[in-house]
Amino acid sequence: MLSALPRNLVDLFSDTMTRPSSGMRKAMAEAEVGDEQRGEDPTTRALEDRVAELLGKDAAVFLPSGTMCNQIALAVHCRSGDEIIAPDNSHIFTFEGGGSSAIAGAHSRAVPADKGVFTGAAVTAAVRPPMRHAPKSRLVAIEQTMNLGGGAVWSMTQIDDVAKAAKTHGLVMHMDGARLPNAVVASGVSAKQMSAPCDSTWIDLSKGLGCPVGGVLAGSKDFIAEAWRWKHRLGGALRQSGILAAAGLYALDHNWDRLAEDHANARAFAEAAAAIKGVKLVYPKTETNLVFLDVSGTGKSAAALSDAILAHGVRIGAMGPALMRAVTHLDVSAAGIATAGTALRKAVAG
Ligand SMILES: *Cc1c(COP(=O)(O)O)cnc(C)c1O
Repeated sequence: MLSALPRNLVDLFSDTMTRPSSGMRKAMAEAEVGDEQRGEDPTTRALEDRVAELLGKDAAVFLPSGTMCNQIALAVHCRSGDEIIAPDNSHIFTFEGGGSSAIAGAHSRAVPADKGVFTGAAVTAAVRPPMRHAPKSRLVAIEQTMNLGGGAVWSMTQIDDVAKAAKTHGLVMHMDGARLPNAVVASGVSAKQMSAPCDSTWIDLSKGLGCPVGGVLAGSKDFIAEAWRWKHRLGGALRQSGILAAAGLYALDHNWDRLAEDHANARAFAEAAAAIKGVKLVYPKTETNLVFLDVSGTGKSAAALSDAILAHGVRIGAMGPALMRAVTHLDVSAAGIATAGTALRKAVAG
């Protein structure tokens, strides 16, 4: 945590670093609002309808964060003692404070995965036998795109393969769609198509879409009715949330297609970084907006390099002793990317 960040920082720390643009702020200021807990906020309802349609589901619910989208989905689908199948490095298992066990009471079952993408055969192998002493396999979760898999995109073939195994074994399928918009823009496959095999699916508004707050979870009518109970239970029901939902509607109109720029910027940065002696790309193919660097060949730690480039006005997070992650987003321009490449080169040489 830094007390004072440099002015004009090129911030590649995360796509959560975006600030609402003036157009978005104007939309927020002008939003029509009401009491959301009572279903009386027209802007929130409009956003929910829009996302339900976008993801091809009956209904949707606006939530304060993506983490709450995951946790509520797991709580609706799973009973205490049920088992969740996902990769060890999934956001659900790694970055949500153990919520799947603390809230849903569910057990975690890690599947082997390549860049976070796994197969139907891996799901089948992870399913517990129907024995009294085994936990009950209940849900399989995929992450689109896979954060700790370098922003890898699940292809439709891969999604369908897992969905088929899920169906065979009577599992519910959930999609963590924090960066589903990036996957859609990168692949040309629609959000609706990608979500079709999933019982629950969501998009984050506060990542690449550039909103200050929120996620929208979608599923069947019954699923969303139960999700609403959890939303209340966890204190996530809101009041005049149209102020926030207006940002979401604005983002769907203005910030979706432009994600292609972030992907081009990520590729440019990856190329610049890979040309630096001692720096290696962890994932040679940059599919979306995440670039992971292995800096073990530089003789410097990731933390030391992260500090050094900050002095050059660039922030890239250290994710491990020799691992760095750069994330492109709408507040980083092509010029910023050039600055970042130069800063990294100087930091490695210095
Ligand atoms: C960021 C993220 C989340 C959580 O979203 P928040 O809005 O930050 O709570 C969940 N899954 C993945 C893959 C993410 O990258």
